[in-house]
Amino acid sequence: MTQDTPVYSGKAKSLYPTGRAGELLVRFRDDITAFDGVKKDVLTRKGSYNAQVSARLFTLLEEHQIRTHFIRLIDECSMLVRELEMVPLEVIVRNIAAGSMVRNYPIEEGTPLDPPVIVIDYKDDARHDPMLNDDIILALKIVTAEELSLIKEIALKTNIVLSRFFAERGITLVDFKIEFGRDNGTMVIGDEISMDSMRLWDAGSGASLDKDVYRFDKGDVLEVYRQVTERSLDRGEKT
Ligand code: 5GP
Repeated sequence: MTQDTPVYSGKAKSLYPTGRAGELLVRFRDDITAFDGVKKDVLTRKGSYNAQVSARLFTLLEEHQIRTHFIRLIDECSMLVRELEMVPLEVIVRNIAAGSMVRNYPIEEGTPLDPPVIVIDYKDDARHDPMLNDDIILALKIVTAEELSLIKEIALKTNIVLSRFFAERGITLVDFKIEFGRDNGTMVIGDEISMDSMRLWDAGSGASLDKDVYRFDKGDVLEVYRQVTERSLDRGEKT
C-alpha cells in the first residue's frame, strides 16, 4: 500500500503516500528527541506506544464530535489519516503550571490554572517556536479570525474530554499540544496526541508519565510510555 519514500519526515513521524487521494499513512518511528532535536535517541517500541495512544485519543475525540484526521490504525505503529492543509500553529492548553510557563513567568510548578490557559506558538524549529498572540496570528494571515476562535473552542473542548479520560485512569492531564489543519476548509485536529505532546502526572504519586522523563532524565521513559499505553487501552494497569 505504501511506497518507500516518505512525502514528509519529521522528528518522530514519517508520512507516506497511500495511492489514494486525500489519504496519508503516518508511521510513528522509535526516535525520541527533545530541546529542538539537540537530545535524541532511538527507543524500541516507543513509536508503537505513541501510535496506539494517539489512535485511542483520536477515537475518543471523534466520539465526542471533535473532528480529527484519524481514519484507522494499520498496524502497531502506523495509522491511516486524512490529508490536511496543516496550519503552522502549536496550540497548547494548560491546566496546571509546568514547563515553559514556570520557566518564563513568576508562577510555581503545580499551580492550578482555572480557567485553563491557551498558548499558541508558531511552529518553526529554526525560530524555536515563538509564542504568538491573536494580533500576530491575524497579521501573519495564518488563519482567519473565525478559524482562530474555532481552534480555541475545539482546544478547550478537547481539554475537557481528555482531562476526564485520564482522570478516570488515575492520571492528571497537566497540559498538551495539538495541531490543526483544514480538511476541505474545515478545521480538524491533525498530527498526534501522545506522551510526546502531553504532560501527564500520576494522580497518586505526582510522577511524570510523559516526555519530561526523557527530557530531564527522570527514569525509564519506555516503561512510562508502556504504562500510559496500558492504562489508556484499559488493560487493567492502574499503578
Ligand atoms: P511547554 O511549553 O511547557 O514546553 O510545553 C507545553 C506542552 O506542550 C507540553 O505537554 C509539551 O509536551 C507540549 N509541546 C510544546 N511544544 C511542543 C513541540 O514542539 N512538540 C511536541 N511534541 N510537544 C510540544
